[in-house]
Amino acid sequence: MSIQQKNKIVIVGGGAGGLELATRLGDTLGRRARAEITLVDANLTHTWKPLLHEVAAGTLNSREDELSYLAQARAHHFEFRLGRVVGVNRTARTIHTEPTRDQTGAVFVPARSFPYDTLILAVGSIANDFGIPGVHEHCHFLDRRAQADNFQQHLLRMHYAADTQESPLRPGQLGIAIAGGGATGVELAAELYHCTRELIQYLFAGLKFEKHMRITVVDGADRVLPGLPARLGEQVAEELRHLGITVLTGERIIEARADGFVTAGGKVIAAETLVWAAGIKAADFLTRIEGLECNRTNQLLVLPTLQTTRDRDIFAFGDCAACPMPDGSAMVPPRAQAAHQQAAMLVKSMHRRLEQRSLPRYRYVDYGSLINLSRYSTVGSLMGNLARYWSPRLFVEGVFARLVYLSLYKMHLLALHGFVPVALTTLANLLTRRARPRLKLH
Ligand SMILES: Cc1cc2nc3c(=O)[nH]c(=O)nc-3n(C[C@H](O)[C@H](O)[C@H](O)COP(=O)(O)OP(=O)(O)OC[C@H]3O[C@@H](n4cnc5c(N)ncnc54)[C@H](O)[C@@H]3O)c2cc1C
Repeated sequence: MSIQQKNKIVIVGGGAGGLELATRLGDTLGRRARAEITLVDANLTHTWKPLLHEVAAGTLNSREDELSYLAQARAHHFEFRLGRVVGVNRTARTIHTEPTRDQTGAVFVPARSFPYDTLILAVGSIANDFGIPGVHEHCHFLDRRAQADNFQQHLLRMHYAADTQESPLRPGQLGIAIAGGGATGVELAAELYHCTRELIQYLFAGLKFEKHMRITVVDGADRVLPGLPARLGEQVAEELRHLGITVLTGERIIEARADGFVTAGGKVIAAETLVWAAGIKAADFLTRIEGLECNRTNQLLVLPTLQTTRDRDIFAFGDCAACPMPDGSAMVPPRAQAAHQQAAMLVKSMHRRLEQRSLPRYRYVDYGSLINLSRYSTVGSLMGNLARYWSPRLFVEGVFARLVYLSLYKMHLLALHGFVPVALTTLANLLTRRARPRLKLH
């Protein structure tokens, strides 16, 4: 196949990785008409996923941090197509979207097909309910912005109802139980603690946090943050307990009910608001792409070049890909920093591919992990270049840790907009911050 024929690059998923990739390929190959870059996403707007727990708590107004794919596409020389991809035909080299519906269920974009020469799948992941009874029916999930928005509305309604009802509160009525003591679970717990305290101060005279609210984090492992250094887990658990959040470890959830979680040990964690943040899996449709290899959590197996193991024209990266570490000891973790690094590498790969040169191999660089417990503290361990001058692993906390934590999002914004727009927006936010309520109250 000639170079000219190989220039239709389709990226599916405009998330932490996919949107950065589309933007940078558009700015280079798209601008010079060397390739046709198309981004397909199931939604019209992008919100950076690590912000979703703040959207859910109402401490971040999702409307202020969302980005229109159409506007981004126009400014950066790529095309955007709305639609949820449900299938890939490797023989015809086409992807297929299902019809897109509005809130009433009416179809406003029909099912469509798009041809590709190079397909890059970056569809992220969703929470894995492991088939546990009741989880799908009774739990909130934070996979998409719409779910985070719904949760924020639920929180408001729940507090209004409790404050205005004439009968006494039911046990667990204002209880929130979060399944999963990973980064998402613990950060959400701290954010919810912050927002419920604020909510009461704004509106609710009759409710007292200490008396009526209970936030519980449950994990089957023997500590929170099982994937991170033990010291970090201990520090975070201590901080959460200090705030009055209950941390239950070594408790495996076997059922979710309308009134709480049931654990294998027979414990019932009374809470009428349940959140599921325990483990992830990739989209089911990936397992149905004929001939491609997936693991048990639906991730596509990829080579270090991020090409799928059975088809060199289909790449996958970010949370939906199982990419081996260079020594083969483990897989690259599903993190925004990995998606960001892989997107940067794939920009080079696409250039080299058009020139029919060999492709670079991805090496995950772990810069460490930072856990932001809302306004209360940020703790973490830094690795790689940032910690090189002190020790292989540097434990940080306080303002410095918070700044490094915030820089992850800034790096994403820089990749999308460049330095000047990000600097100006940051300045504008700083100037207008005091004029806005600290919490979304509607
Ligand atoms: C609450 C929360 C907090 C987190 N905090 C951190 C953190 O502090 N640090 C960190 O490194 N990581 C964090 N993560 C993990 C991080 O968000 C993910 O690792 C990262 O977003 C993965 O990037 P991605 O590009 O693979 O997928 P995503 O960012 O999830 O993007 C996937 C995109 O694909 C689209 N899509 C999905 N399916 C389809 C389909 N079938 N057709 C078309 N489009 C589709 C989606 O609409 C979305 O735009 C957090 C995650 C959550 C949920």
